[in-house]
Amino acid sequence: KGMPGPTLAAPHAAHPFYDGSENAASKALVANALAQRIQNINIDKCEAGGEDAFFVADLGEVYRQHLRWKLNLPRIEPFYAVKCNPDLQVLRLLANLGCGFDCASKKEMETALSMGISPNRIIYAHPCKTASFIRYASKEGVEHMTFDNAEELYKCQRYFPSARLLLRIATDDSKALCRLSVKYGAPLDSTAGLLQLAKELGLNVVGVSFHVGSGTYDPTAYVAAVQDARRVFDEGAELGFEMKLLDVGGGYGHNNFEAIASVLGPAVDQYFPSNVRVIAEPGRYYVASAFTVAAHVIARRTVQDPVTLENSFMLYLNDGVYGNFSGVMFDHQTPVPKVLTCGDRFLYGKKGVDERLVKYSIWGPTCDGLDCISSSSFLPEVVSVGDWLYFAEMGAYSKCSATKFNGFPDDHEVIYVCSEPGAAALLEG
Ligand code: PLP
Repeated sequence: KGMPGPTLAAPHAAHPFYDGSENAASKALVANALAQRIQNINIDKCEAGGEDAFFVADLGEVYRQHLRWKLNLPRIEPFYAVKCNPDLQVLRLLANLGCGFDCASKKEMETALSMGISPNRIIYAHPCKTASFIRYASKEGVEHMTFDNAEELYKCQRYFPSARLLLRIATDDSKALCRLSVKYGAPLDSTAGLLQLAKELGLNVVGVSFHVGSGTYDPTAYVAAVQDARRVFDEGAELGFEMKLLDVGGGYGHNNFEAIASVLGPAVDQYFPSNVRVIAEPGRYYVASAFTVAAHVIARRTVQDPVTLENSFMLYLNDGVYGNFSGVMFDHQTPVPKVLTCGDRFLYGKKGVDERLVKYSIWGPTCDGLDCISSSSFLPEVVSVGDWLYFAEMGAYSKCSATKFNGFPDDHEVIYVCSEPGAAALLEG
């Protein structure tokens, strides 16, 4: 409500940072923020926890990802998947850019609504919903929601009979980082029966949704899913439903986005006439590259191989898989450590350090042996207690699934920078 629309002044192709190469403006801002924050920490005198891990987020990167989306998939409206990173500044920027929001719980809907986002820009995209959350959606007017089984239809009829329902279909997600169709999605041989039941219950099915798996590396999975969705649209139309919304889900990666868009866009146009509205639920695509995390080396141990007598090293950080590296457990992430400071040297963005690299395993601070960020990383031998490491590409499925295990914090500070004036203007407004 009252939010300014998107200002997409410069066509994306003409944007100086668009070619995907290193963005100097962004790097400089992130470097400054990291350096300033660390300079302000006196390791010998700071409060307990004063040297906690922290993030630097470049909101300009989120903005560039939005322009990149608009350029490559102009027909498809992004509904950002809040679960991926519910950072309020990110949500604000995306709201001001005109995005919709994919919410999976009452809390996510509440967050979006509390920011003034209109309920018709929210989809409650969860095929197995909590009854009281459906009542909440009904009360707040969040009408669009997904289903994939018969019991869910009875629940919808009981708690929100006028909801606009999308039938989520299963996909071939065998080539995705995180498979979702093992848990959700109606098999194609069940969709006709589900639509028939929806009709008997007097429900309002308006479309189809799918998710090809989070972090997919197979663009053709989208094409197959679009074809399947077409068949289900036809089944719905035969039963008299006015099918007018296709939701092509999430899964888009930072690195394979153009490859996906180049097959998804034409497939959507081939199978769905222009009067069908098409939305998507990208999560990691928008935020992964925008966040960098810096963590402090709290301990170091030398280990000698009993056979080769070679030394390797263990580094212990004050953040781990129970914290912002939760994606190692839940999202198959393989974070890459880089040296931020080593003694007096500030090494952010330095391609290589002229020193012998040795093998480290990198551990988090909790007592659990599972708390391992990386079992094998190569860093200079001189890295030691008191130095800082950083990890880029930490914006997706990181902070949002951190825990308080062992009493370590789950709410690490985020320092915001913005390498795009267009984004800064939207955030100020
Ligand atoms: N939509 C739904 C229903 C999901 O379950 C997820 C992720 O689990 C997403 C969207 C976002 O996926 P991604 O971050 O891979 O784009």
